[in-house]
Amino acid sequence: MSVIDILKAKATPYGIGISDDLSEKLSIYAKELREWNEKINLTAILDDEGIAIKHFLDCLLVSKAASFEAGMSVIDVGTGAGFPGLVIAAAHPDVRVTLLDSTGKKLKAVEAMAAAMGVENVKIVHARAEEAGKSPEFREKYDYATARAVAELRILSEYTLPFVKKGGSFLSLKSVTAKEEIGGAKKALGILGGEVEGVTEFTLPGGDNRAIIKIKKISQTSPKYPRPSAQIAKKPL
Ligand code: SAM
Repeated sequence: MSVIDILKAKATPYGIGISDDLSEKLSIYAKELREWNEKINLTAILDDEGIAIKHFLDCLLVSKAASFEAGMSVIDVGTGAGFPGLVIAAAHPDVRVTLLDSTGKKLKAVEAMAAAMGVENVKIVHARAEEAGKSPEFREKYDYATARAVAELRILSEYTLPFVKKGGSFLSLKSVTAKEEIGGAKKALGILGGEVEGVTEFTLPGGDNRAIIKIKKISQTSPKYPRPSAQIAKKPL
């Protein structure tokens, strides 16, 4: 079975359909990911089942915690090889997705992979989140921020919440540590203008547990945040 055949079979029980257009784009993504990974280290998960489930299905499940509507904007912070941002962009061509990372060579691969897939609704931004979050171009401009495998929630919230508009949400893709991380991030969320709205939990085929923490932006973030990287690391909120 190909990556796409596996994805189609495994996504059905979650109520996720894979259109012909998305199949074509993700099939190119899988091929490009393997080719680029020979040049630069993008991901350790490269087998058919792993790409289908741990990358594509995991990222598509974000739509269970969000309602992506035409014209909306999303920023994926620490996108790496494009997860979840490039998958969201491929699945929702009418949503604008900014893919941000501090590692330029990964973004070069992401830009080339998006072009090969024919995904045009992405913007690539090479910056550290805590610097871009200060810029009027990006600050409080997004309906959604997403992040997977970037940092502990308490720190990650300072990276991501400044990007989110009041009324928008930050979707944090986590695993078994979600409840613990929410406990540790309560104070930070209060300071940054966020509030946990809910947690969507599911088990991936194969048994890995996942949780999407939805944090609503209930008030503007003070211009004091995000602080410089060293301060965030030394004194998390
Ligand atoms: N989100 C992808 C995934 O789930 O496969 C990549 C995860 S990778 C472990 C973490 C990524 O976050 C790296 O590409 C790294 O360059 C990026 N990153 C870490 N801290 C960052 C920051 N402060 N600003 C921007 N990118 C950051």
